[in-house]
Amino acid sequence: MGRFISRLCKRALPFFKLMKKKCLFEWTSEADAAFEDLKRYLMSLPVMAGCWTEEFKVYLLRGTLPEKEEDIERIVREATAYCGQDGELYLRRPNDVSQRCISEEQGRELLADIHVGGCRRHSSSCTLVGKVFRSGFYWPTALNDATELVRSCEACQFHAKQIHQPAQGV
Ligand SMILES: [Zn+2]
Repeated sequence: MGRFISRLCKRALPFFKLMKKKCLFEWTSEADAAFEDLKRYLMSLPVMAGCWTEEFKVYLLRGTLPEKEEDIERIVREATAYCGQDGELYLRRPNDVSQRCISEEQGRELLADIHVGGCRRHSSSCTLVGKVFRSGFYWPTALNDATELVRSCEACQFHAKQIHQPAQGV
């Protein structure tokens, strides 16, 4: 995982360059290229064992049902939201766009990267999740993870405190 993070950092460099510029979100072609690169890198990562995608992949790609009776019904019902393709799991979207399902760990890396990368004023949790989903990735705990990330980010907390500080006597 350490190697993963450091490689991500290098790839995210153009995003950090953006931070030094004005806060207005500016998506340069350089950042775009880096983001595409980052996406390709995440796409190429094997999904770890024990990942939430595993049971759906086993069912959709190999046609194997879970052993436990109570799991079978759930998997068959929930699996309709996904499709398996080239050994990977995708979440079906109504507009024919599908999102590659990644592990929660990979998702959190992606969030952290986008959070500090986009703008000096860190992206809110909703913006973050929107960006991640639009970029073509999905994992079930994305919103929770984004909320948690914003809550545990020192810069974000500092900023929130400034806003809520009562105005000094005028
Ligand atoms: Zn932040």
